[in-house]
Amino acid sequence: MADRGPRPLVAGNWKMNGTMASLDEVRRLMEMLSGARMRCDVMICPPATLIAPMVRLVASSPIKVGGQDCHSEAKGAHTGDISAEMLSDAGCSGVIVGHSERRADHGETDSLIRDKAAAAHRAGLTAIICIGETLEEREAGRTLDVVTGQLDSVLPPSVTGDDTVLAYEPVWAIGTGLTPSLEQVAEVHGAIRARLRARLGGSQGDAVAILYGGSVKPDNAGDLMGVANVDGALVGGASLKAADFMGIIRAYE
Ligand code: PEP
Repeated sequence: MADRGPRPLVAGNWKMNGTMASLDEVRRLMEMLSGARMRCDVMICPPATLIAPMVRLVASSPIKVGGQDCHSEAKGAHTGDISAEMLSDAGCSGVIVGHSERRADHGETDSLIRDKAAAAHRAGLTAIICIGETLEEREAGRTLDVVTGQLDSVLPPSVTGDDTVLAYEPVWAIGTGLTPSLEQVAEVHGAIRARLRARLGGSQGDAVAILYGGSVKPDNAGDLMGVANVDGALVGGASLKAADFMGIIRAYE
């Protein structure tokens, strides 16, 4: 049973970006990380085509590799999909589920996301579960209701502090250069923590890392990572370049 605060995680989501040549950025990141003593875990979630070569490349480094999505079932007639078991077999240690781009592009619902998180746990992967409000919902003053409602719906019964990471990603902050104020981040992360404690008990609820995601850059990472109950970052665009990603990881130097 987890009895300490969560170890921070800085995870990069490459989305549908990257070819074999992009592994050079990972080589650069490995050089930058060698000898550094970071107080966080580092993960990269590349497109599926790069998982196996990236796993081989980072084998001797602290970098972990994750998937960007998984199917809820272990195998079967689901053309184009990848199961959590396959990600695990390829060397992944985690998988993002419920990213707002999957919700928007593929109509993913909270209940499907809960099933995907359960699949991640079944396969021994850390489920990185994304939640967050739209701009319309924020402007209507519904942020806390939306985020805690999503949280209630997406957590599978299998959730523990050791196998689950929450990522609070305001939809309007993803890829826009906009970020909530530090007070707004603190308010939402505090509400997520309180809900996790109510749902899982204090010990397990405190052990779940809560990442902030949405336009995290080297120049705002220190402030954002310093907010109470922010236990790392989920990073899109700035994870594609080693120097930028490292600038964010350095918030935990
Ligand atoms: C994301 O896609 O999860 C994300 C946070 O993107 P960006 O950092 O580019 O806003």
